Amino acid sequence: MAEETIFSKIINKDIPADLLYQDDLVTAFRDINPRAPSHILIIPNKLIPTANDVEAEDEAMMGRLFTVARKLAKEEGIAEDGYRLIVNCNSHGGQEVYHIHMHLVGGRPLGPLLMS
Ligand code: 5GP
Repeated sequence: MAEETIFSKIINKDIPADLLYQDDLVTAFRDINPRAPSHILIIPNKLIPTANDVEAEDEAMMGRLFTVARKLAKEEGIAEDGYRLIVNCNSHGGQEVYHIHMHLVGGRPLGPLLMS
């Protein structure tokens, strides 16, 4: 059984976050340490630690991350200029929180590949 992270507490509203969206499958909130004018985390409500742990049964839920990213990018006003969607995996990928999450980053031109 995977260990819960701070993100479970955000999903359950046990700790505050700047919540932008929540439904039966996913939750989205602003990153506490934004690296761009728009920096949003979109996460499944189910605890999946990393991209290595995604199963076939999770496909609909993982697809929902993209649907919500599209909606939020539009709401943030960054859809036309563009943005980046990032999922970090494990230490070489720079993952810090072991509850899989998609970063939606935009609002300024980003470098050629990496966020920083
Ligand atoms: P990772 O490096 O795992 O891909 O990204 C984790 C992200 O979660 C980081 O960008 C970090 O700023 C963000 N983060 C960590 N703890 C919290 C928190 O308690 N609240 C919010 N809103 N974001 C957090």
